Amino acid sequence: MKKILCTSETHPLTWWLGDNHNNTIWITEYRNKNGYKAAEKVCKNFNPIDVINIVKDSKLKGRGGAGFLTGNKWSLMPQYEKGVNRYLICNADEMEPGTYKDKFLMEHIPHQLIEGLLISSFALQVSRAYIFLRGEYVQAEKILNRAISEAKELGFLGKNIFGSKFTLDIVIHSGAGRYICGEETALINSLEGKRANPRYKPPFPAMVGLWGKPTCVNNVETLSNIPSIILNGVNWYKNLSKSNDTGTKLMGFSGRVKCPGLWELPFGITANELLHNYAQGMKKGLTLKAWLPGGAGTGFLTPEHLNVTMEFSSISNVGSRLGTGLAMAIDNTFSMVSIVLNLEKFFSRESCGLCTPCRDGLPWTVKILKMLEKKRGHENYITLLEELCNQLNTGRTFCAHAPGAVAPIKSAIKYFRSDFEAGLLKNKL
Ligand code: SF4
Repeated sequence: MKKILCTSETHPLTWWLGDNHNNTIWITEYRNKNGYKAAEKVCKNFNPIDVINIVKDSKLKGRGGAGFLTGNKWSLMPQYEKGVNRYLICNADEMEPGTYKDKFLMEHIPHQLIEGLLISSFALQVSRAYIFLRGEYVQAEKILNRAISEAKELGFLGKNIFGSKFTLDIVIHSGAGRYICGEETALINSLEGKRANPRYKPPFPAMVGLWGKPTCVNNVETLSNIPSIILNGVNWYKNLSKSNDTGTKLMGFSGRVKCPGLWELPFGITANELLHNYAQGMKKGLTLKAWLPGGAGTGFLTPEHLNVTMEFSSISNVGSRLGTGLAMAIDNTFSMVSIVLNLEKFFSRESCGLCTPCRDGLPWTVKILKMLEKKRGHENYITLLEELCNQLNTGRTFCAHAPGAVAPIKSAIKYFRSDFEAGLLKNKL
């Protein structure tokens, strides 16, 4: 595996761990390495608007998948009004198949997230922040609870933080296990104790969010970037990247590669570098057939696309999405029908059921794919599948779940139509 020298200058998210990626950085070690210095700087010297402007200038994009500019999202929050509660929610409901970057950050560098929440809450003038945690992340919950207690003991959470008038409590809420809680309004409903269905937008959460109050929802990795931006400055942050997307990104490769894993890398490296220099290429005897750039809800790409750079615009220019940046390799021993069937079973099960096209349409994709897998597909099944995908496209369903769910089907048919044709009854040998 490529040996990487991790320093605070080049790997702001993960350098704390050095060579020991099984370690957890508790508060003493975190502080010895300048931890909480950024929060102190903010609480002592800055106004909330200063922090928002720094994050805006940094061009930090949300790392949950959509890539919305964080500073712009923060700016959508209305002006502070005394007596009106406002909330920040950390979206830690990481349930995208093949993605575990937020889990890694929470289990190994929990204080970086807490410091990120602290600074972001200061900027948004929030006195209560929530971490909406995936229910299955039991270990992360234990670690975060201990880290929050450590921070409270030293006065980094609670009242008058760093001698300022700023107060913050952080509450961990463990989810009950629903993929749709990754969607911010479904997450808010769930946090309120309601069924996790997405809400109508507008109004957007920035105006009417948790318990009807202004609310901002940010991802774990996004928030974990904030302390280093404050401490080292915007220009330093921008220069970390090789592309227009600023900073570094946790990227990975899973599947039958020689060295599946997760690495902090600058935006703008090619997928080919990620696969060959970091994941060490495919296992012996296997060749790459297809790859998903960043989670199950992104479209398949082929080996011909490996020269594309890992950044939001480049991946979208070739018809897919960067998503979470954790790529999945599919090797030549698989039929794409089986791979897509597996994904659609997941998406179909995780439909919240609110709107008919998604609730009924996704199970139909599963039925058709099952028939194709058994090589009992009727002549019109591929066309039917394509029509179903059109009916589930953006704008036809209530939220982005269904359009994301059909992205792998559409791209698999586009690039590997013969795999689907092999499932038709007329072609049965
Ligand atoms: S698209 Fe699916 S997940 Fe989204 S609201 Fe409709 S049924 Fe629910």
